[in-house]
Amino acid sequence: MELIDGKKIAAAIKVEIAAEVKRMMDKGARPPHLAAILVGEDPASETYVRNKSRSCKEVGFDSSTYKFPADVPEKEILDTVGFINEDPDIDGLIVQLPLPAHIDNQKVIEAIRPEKDVDGFHPVNVGRTTIGLSSYVSATPYGILELLMRSGIETSGKNCVILGRSNIVGKPMSILMMRNEEPGNSTVTVCHSKTRNLAEITSAADILIVAIGRPGFVTADMVREGAVVIDVGIHRVEAPETKSGFRLVGDVQFEEVSAKASHITPVPGGVGPMTIVSLLMNTLKACKKEIYG
Ligand code: NAP
Repeated sequence: MELIDGKKIAAAIKVEIAAEVKRMMDKGARPPHLAAILVGEDPASETYVRNKSRSCKEVGFDSSTYKFPADVPEKEILDTVGFINEDPDIDGLIVQLPLPAHIDNQKVIEAIRPEKDVDGFHPVNVGRTTIGLSSYVSATPYGILELLMRSGIETSGKNCVILGRSNIVGKPMSILMMRNEEPGNSTVTVCHSKTRNLAEITSAADILIVAIGRPGFVTADMVREGAVVIDVGIHRVEAPETKSGFRLVGDVQFEEVSAKASHITPVPGGVGPMTIVSLLMNTLKACKKEIYG
């Protein structure tokens, strides 16, 4: 079994991005600039946005955070998106989701200019991905493609089973794995809560991508000998034996499944570290106008 080390791969990509930023700036360009809108005081969202700013700094990007109280009117958020859309010195914009209930998430996402939608959530980017045009691919699926590619995993002609059909992971992942491009060209099956004979289907997978949101759901009997297993799930579970009293686990029973898999991502340290790096890669593309010219 080979471990797919997301932490190591993410660090290598950051070095590559930083080198590219330096090359651009040596030629007189300004650094890429990522803006984030953060509403309310959810600690997880605050941490996530803070980590994004820190990662931007590490690779030489500028970053800015537009912070609002939880009761901010929707119009103020839409106006801010409009103002950032027009700012030629900002390349990419992300809105930390979910927004408070009185703000329409979808309306805000659709207000972002597709050219600056580095989270890849705007329907134009989703649609472009679906029909095979250049697009911003959302962070988690993009990170998984990089993990597969950089681990030398062949995807062409392989049976790929995706557990989960969410808009942010399962669905885009299925489109990307079936596209006529590498990584891609897989024969894809998508499973969800209404799927029958789940274990039978997952057992036929050469590549199994699990994004189900249930700790330790995938057991060894659901996995084929030699399969590549990508675990997207992340859960904090109680662990009295640890100092902190908890530990992070994925959707896959790592110990038993790793004994059968040819490659597997750990949790933590697999898919997770790739998310912010994917956002950085998209922001670099936005700055270089690689997607929309
Ligand atoms: P989600 O929106 O809750 O979607 C879960 C999917 O799993 C749904 O399609 C659901 O089917 C399916 N499902 C649930 N129970 C099932 C069952 N018993 N059998 C078959 N299918 C079942 O989750 P998500 O946003 O995609 O996230 C999935 C996991 O990945 C979560 O643990 C999340 O925290 C994690 N995550 C990690 C990262 C990262 O950076 N590492 C990023 C995003 C998400 P239905 O559609 O029928 O309901």
